[in-house]
Amino acid sequence: MSTIQTDSLVERDRQNVWHHISPYNEASPPTVFTEAKGAWMTDHKGNKVLDGMSGLWCVNVGYGREELAKAAYDQMIKMTYTPMTQSHQPAIDLAEKLNEYLDDDYMMFYSNSGSDANEVAFKIARQYHQQNGEPSRFKFISRYRAYHGSSMGAMSATGQALRKFKYEPLVPGFLHVAPPDSYRRPAGMSVEEFNIQKAQEFEEKIIWEQKDTIAGIIMEPLITGGGVIIPHPVYMEKVQEICTKYGVLLIIDEVICGFGRTGKMFGHQHFKVKPDIISMAKGLTSAYLPLSVTAVRKDIYETFKKSEENSHFRHVNTFGGNPAACALALKNLEIMERENLVARSAELGERLTNELAVLNDHPYVGDIRSKGFLMGIEMVEDKETREPASNERVGKIIAGCRAKGLIIGKNGDTVAGYNNILTLSPPLSCTDEDVDFIISTILDVFNNNK
Ligand code: PMP
Repeated sequence: MSTIQTDSLVERDRQNVWHHISPYNEASPPTVFTEAKGAWMTDHKGNKVLDGMSGLWCVNVGYGREELAKAAYDQMIKMTYTPMTQSHQPAIDLAEKLNEYLDDDYMMFYSNSGSDANEVAFKIARQYHQQNGEPSRFKFISRYRAYHGSSMGAMSATGQALRKFKYEPLVPGFLHVAPPDSYRRPAGMSVEEFNIQKAQEFEEKIIWEQKDTIAGIIMEPLITGGGVIIPHPVYMEKVQEICTKYGVLLIIDEVICGFGRTGKMFGHQHFKVKPDIISMAKGLTSAYLPLSVTAVRKDIYETFKKSEENSHFRHVNTFGGNPAACALALKNLEIMERENLVARSAELGERLTNELAVLNDHPYVGDIRSKGFLMGIEMVEDKETREPASNERVGKIIAGCRAKGLIIGKNGDTVAGYNNILTLSPPLSCTDEDVDFIISTILDVFNNNK
């Protein structure tokens, strides 16, 4: 491709494409990617980068798999579309397959995105309580720093103020408690004690709000986009206990943690919890096509089968459960099983953790947290005071990695001042050489920024 053509590509983008979330920046236009294979992407100028974030934490099996394209192609030719008011075989096969991982306990409701899956969860939870004779239950509790999506309800559940304040008023009934950020626990308190205290914030909120107004708690097994905040197991056990005690539904958002990211098929499987509702997206299709699922415990579904009028779930979306997307998701899961990618995620994560542990001695690294092939490196200005690192300091590491051909992420919460966590979430299909490259690049860049 000639330079003239490539420059015009950037120019045409500038004229016509409104980018997601990124601020408008004339000086550094977005990168136009033209090809990708495995963990590597090639931009329009021929530069190769390893995608250490799997896109938006989603390309779990890596880029450019022909058999996924073929699965979608074959299904499109065979039977292009059926709305999910009816059914088709890929939807049935996929629902059965997902239940293999979930002890056959759930009914699968198909949508298109993680936000959709959470909206469905909220609507089902509210209707469930109504049908159960508790119509006063309409509120949801989530955590500050958590992200649950961009649509009105999912954004209301999100606990990051900067993503919300221009779009108010938001949906009434969404409440927040503090996350179990153990790194910033009070001095002298153990991680376990701190996590018990944070879980109890849910109970306090439920009581203050009047217990029979609470419909559900929504949480990721570990907070990902808010800065990789991993709870102590006792936290999840306590939350489960509180949900049971107060008749509150536990909605687990597996949009990022699902499909092997944390070293188990689902993130909640690290803990002693039984979600009432599970939302899934991203890794379900490794982002080759849009698809999401809201998995709902079968006994909750039963209340929607009552004979009285209006007890069915009045929710439809045109594209949810698209046959090609379902066929592709099944193939994606087949690949994950064939290549043992869940175990591989745990193994690669362990390697990353061991070999990057030397960074604990770096003057600007405060804390390193990981679960499976998912890592957060919290940067600070001062190891003693734990003051979050400046944007400039964090930016230098990101730019340094990028200059050497590695994309890493930055997450946290800007309003609270915690926009200082570097994130890594590479494809689970990374080769050993890919991981060598990730580790050596990160160590190099940190060494150059002491
Ligand atoms: N939940 C979580 C935990 C997410 O990370 C995201 C997306 N980053 C969503 C929900 C929303 O998913 P989507 O962007 O597909 O709507």
